[in-house]
Amino acid sequence: MPRKRTQLSRQTATAKRLRVLRSNETEDENMHRLAAQRAITEQNRARESSVDRSQRLASQNFRTLANRQRESSAERSQRLATQNARTMANRDRESSAERSQRLATQNARTMANRDRESSAERSQRLATQNSRTMANRDRESSAERSQRLASQNARTLANRDRESSAERSQRLASQNSRTLANRDRESSAERSQRLAQQNARSTRNRTRRQHNLLNAAFTYDCTVDYSELNDIDIGRMDKICNLCQAKKWAAETPGLCCSGGKIRYPCAQI
Ligand SMILES: [Zn+2]
Repeated sequence: MPRKRTQLSRQTATAKRLRVLRSNETEDENMHRLAAQRAITEQNRARESSVDRSQRLASQNFRTLANRQRESSAERSQRLATQNARTMANRDRESSAERSQRLATQNARTMANRDRESSAERSQRLATQNSRTMANRDRESSAERSQRLASQNARTLANRDRESSAERSQRLASQNSRTLANRDRESSAERSQRLAQQNARSTRNRTRRQHNLLNAAFTYDCTVDYSELNDIDIGRMDKICNLCQAKKWAAETPGLCCSGGKIRYPCAQI
């Protein structure tokens, strides 16, 4: 159980006096007080035994969990938004060396954790992650979905552009052997499941494609989510031709702009 911190009570005279003092302090005094407090904390942490440390982290954890359970959904959104803004501000401020350093540390920590995890923990982690992803996808609006897919697509295209032909072969070979290994491992129930999903996806795509849009602009149907129709959601004009740098939509063919590099525009020589 976390220790009770009576000094935090709004009722005590001491707490009230300290609050008044704090609200009157200058920016300089505030910085000084926080620095002094940080120094004391650091000293205490340096002095604490490993048992004290575990104890402190456990109470802290307990308190955090209790707070999270008590918070309303508005408070939760508010907390996450503040946290997000703080993270973004920190990221904005960091130099490129600090960024590399942060990512390397994070990466090393992740690798160490993965190394330590048992196969049961691994399955558990992947299942949790999966259900979180599914929940997020369920919550996302159709605009957010398009945005997510477009960023992902742009990232993939940028990576593909950067890869050498040897890397490309390597990538396709690994992907292929991964697919084959997965197929080998799958039970007959999983196989049926996979084929059924694939089938449902094709049907869905076909339905989206085949929706009759003849004169649809004159006969608006409020039961149709037009943004979900492939014929309407043509994405953004953000595909860049590697050969002539023309901007195109996703569905436009490679030859549309410059016939695959055969035509050179005098105004667009790169
Ligand atoms: Zn082109």
